[in-house]
Amino acid sequence: MASLPYLDMIEPEEIDLMLVSHFHLDHSGGLPYFLQKTPFKGRCFMTHATKAIYRWLLSDYVKVSNIASDDQLYTDNDIEKSMEKIETVNFHQEVNVNGVRFWCYSAGHVLGAAMFMIEIAGVKILYTGDYSRQEDRHLMCAEMPTVKPDIVIIESTYGTHIHENREERERRFTSLVHDIVNRGGRCLIPAFALGRAQELLLILGETNLENHISFSRYPFYDYGGYAYKMDRKS
Ligand SMILES: [Zn+2]
Repeated sequence: MASLPYLDMIEPEEIDLMLVSHFHLDHSGGLPYFLQKTPFKGRCFMTHATKAIYRWLLSDYVKVSNIASDDQLYTDNDIEKSMEKIETVNFHQEVNVNGVRFWCYSAGHVLGAAMFMIEIAGVKILYTGDYSRQEDRHLMCAEMPTVKPDIVIIESTYGTHIHENREERERRFTSLVHDIVNRGGRCLIPAFALGRAQELLLILGETNLENHISFSRYPFYDYGGYAYKMDRKS
């Protein structure tokens, strides 16, 4: 219960609309509880990709969370039932719920991640959720809204921290992997299964011409035992 948002500070039955920015647990982990265990009667929206991945990610969370069944906030059955209450939107699709108008922009970050522009009584509010302004190999960067918001509610996970330059970070990573496999070693890379793992595979799959590093002759495996051949043509 302590991991949930302060739901006792709000009246769920009075809420008309819930917008979910993306599937990450810190943004959707309380959703089955909110939809199935509170008197919330409003409408809930997310993008198609978020809904598809939400189902599997939360199911996996229930499976791996090692807590006594009476401490569990919700079951796989609750997640399944919550799916019927979740409506989907396309990016830029305008929806009107009881006079609240909203649409969403791509936020980069992870597949399906959305930033919502919400207009209530002529006031425009932009809620970004997590977003990324840097394009990577498998995702575009966050769109710049064409409409000027009056209020912006923004995530600030990294605060004022400046990320290391992407080229340098990738060079450091690929040369480290190169050193390890070159001396006959095996390289174990702990990575988030969704998004990061695909991005790392794409980085390793690219022949680094500058350093003459090619990983194409090495097999890659994910934890499930699937093998990847690092050939961009296949
Ligand atoms: Zn996130």
